[in-house]
Amino acid sequence: MIQRTPTAIEAHRAEDTRTWQQLLSSSVTSPQALLERLELTPERWLNGARSGHALFPVRVPEPFLNRMRKGDPDDPLLRQVLPLTAESETADGYVRDPLAESGAIQTTGLIRKYRSRALLMVTGQCAINCRYCFRRHFPYEDQRLSPSDRNQVIETLISSPEINEVILSGGDPLVASDRLLAEWADSITRVPHIKRLRLHTRLPVVIPQRVCDALLDWVKNPPVPVVMVLHINHPAEIDADVRAALGRLADAGVTLLNQSVILRGVNDTADVLESLSEALFAAGVLPYYLHAFDPVRGAHHFDVPDEQAQSLIQQLLVRLPGFLVPRLVREVPGEQSKTPLNLHL
Ligand SMILES: *Cc1c(COP(=O)(O)O)cnc(C)c1O
Ligand code: SF4
Repeated sequence: MIQRTPTAIEAHRAEDTRTWQQLLSSSVTSPQALLERLELTPERWLNGARSGHALFPVRVPEPFLNRMRKGDPDDPLLRQVLPLTAESETADGYVRDPLAESGAIQTTGLIRKYRSRALLMVTGQCAINCRYCFRRHFPYEDQRLSPSDRNQVIETLISSPEINEVILSGGDPLVASDRLLAEWADSITRVPHIKRLRLHTRLPVVIPQRVCDALLDWVKNPPVPVVMVLHINHPAEIDADVRAALGRLADAGVTLLNQSVILRGVNDTADVLESLSEALFAAGVLPYYLHAFDPVRGAHHFDVPDEQAQSLIQQLLVRLPGFLVPRLVREVPGEQSKTPLNLHL
């Protein structure tokens, strides 16, 4: 099939009328198309991009792509999605399942590591493939939920009174249909000891059109508070469309928090992290976690040493009010919560 690549302006204009489902399926999914759209010389990047793509496919939705600077290989949004030669290298200590999640599966689809919170993998799909993702090797196919698995998840929740919060996660839970999500929200919040419903998602950022009326309908309805933890790493990810989408969620009563991952070449300076916190606040979102890097195989080129991350947090504490400084944490397999990295320097 031969398709004419629309100019940036045409693409932008068309974007206003496309639904989130259309935007999701028209994402850029080849290294070549990504380089072309950003006007980067293929000779320099294509081989590395192709070998990385073979390990973990490229996927970038257009609204996110449109926020990148053309011709700049160091663009902080591009760095998060462009595969590099370094991904094919192995490095000591970098493994496929750094968080040992495969061992924490309680019943199909439900990961339980912490006493009061359980994480439900609604879908294995994401709207964007982030190169540094610690779940890039996760065997999602094994976690597809049949109707009887769904009953089993609810049975498990009913018989586990210590669990008072369920986190819809994935992949990205908002890739699923609002109909399915509304059903999940309904059956989970019928369990009497569930106090909160949480969503971990990047979709309102990468495709703000995802915050559609059907989504707002069901997030308004649950009998318990809904908390959404977004995933934004750089202030340039937040544009007017994202701010509008987050405003609609806030109006629907959703509490908005953000988690970021510290990434070399993306957000490893105090200036960027300070602007990120300010941009989040301006969009009605509070910073929650800054995750120390997880040693997932193929992503060692993003690693920021702990001492540097700790020093960045020290600088943020001087520059920002305490509520705009994220907690620097690491996930240590076997621990009962995220582990804060202490700041004694
Ligand atoms: C991070 C995580 C949670 C949530 O932890 P909070 O500290 O409550 O944000 C829950 N379950 C799993 C498996 C997690 O990885
Ligand atoms: S959206 Fe989240 S789960 Fe999906 S690839 Fe990115 S970091 Fe990983």
